[in-house]
Amino acid sequence: KANRMFKPEDTVIDVCGKKIGAGHFVLISGPCSVESEEQIINIARALKEAGATFLRGGAYKPRTSPYSFQGLGLEGLEMLKTAGKEVGLPIVSEIMSTDVLDRFIEDVDIIQVGARNMQNFVLLRELGRTKKPILLKRGLSATLEEWLMSAEYIMSEGNENVILCERGIRTFETYTRNTLDLSAVPAIKKLSHLPIIVDPSHGTGKSWMVASMSKAAVVAGADGLIVEVHNNPRGALSDGEQSLTPDNYAALVPGLRELAEFE
Ligand code: PEP
Ligand code: MN
Repeated sequence: KANRMFKPEDTVIDVCGKKIGAGHFVLISGPCSVESEEQIINIARALKEAGATFLRGGAYKPRTSPYSFQGLGLEGLEMLKTAGKEVGLPIVSEIMSTDVLDRFIEDVDIIQVGARNMQNFVLLRELGRTKKPILLKRGLSATLEEWLMSAEYIMSEGNENVILCERGIRTFETYTRNTLDLSAVPAIKKLSHLPIIVDPSHGTGKSWMVASMSKAAVVAGADGLIVEVHNNPRGALSDGEQSLTPDNYAALVPGLRELAEFE
């Protein structure tokens, strides 16, 4: 179902009246983790002002160490929802388990499946039985074929609202957190009709690389970006090193507007 052979035209996904795909570009941004109501509302205001189209924020965090901050859970989701409503931005958040699926269906506009859960087939199948738009991140070491097969798990259950997200893959290089595979963008466009966005934050792990990789992603044909932004990157509870400040972000958006057209 994800294969371009059986559906030649680009898929356009409508989320709260905002279109994604076929030239409709989206800018998803926000902190890695929701840390407090004040934090998320302040960031949301700055992002809205800068021109973001969606607000992201992690409530359930798939951390490498069980001793690292794991996210605020449903309380965090509630804060994200409040912030999104307050500034008028639809929200994106990662789901890790089907226990909280009903809450995600109710509250979240795009449900994110993280890289670590790309092959959680039970989760994918359950999401396939909903109508929610799903942001499916590429697995840490997933081939394009494996990634598209994961999309197929969602689509084969009846939910064709899948947005792919290239977030970097593991290679022998250790300078960057991951190796951002921008060639995945034209490759996916050839293989599939699904929209694909790029995450330059996890793709590089370094905030100073985010602006150039964002522009490169747009030029490569991405349908959007997901960028981590934090009010105080140095004090962030997760992924501070790769997070832009709201000011950095506001400075980046006009450059993107020269390369892509968006609201
Ligand atoms: C995230 O978006 O904060 C995240 C954990 O991403 P990934 O699953 O790509 O590592
Ligand atoms: Mn993160």
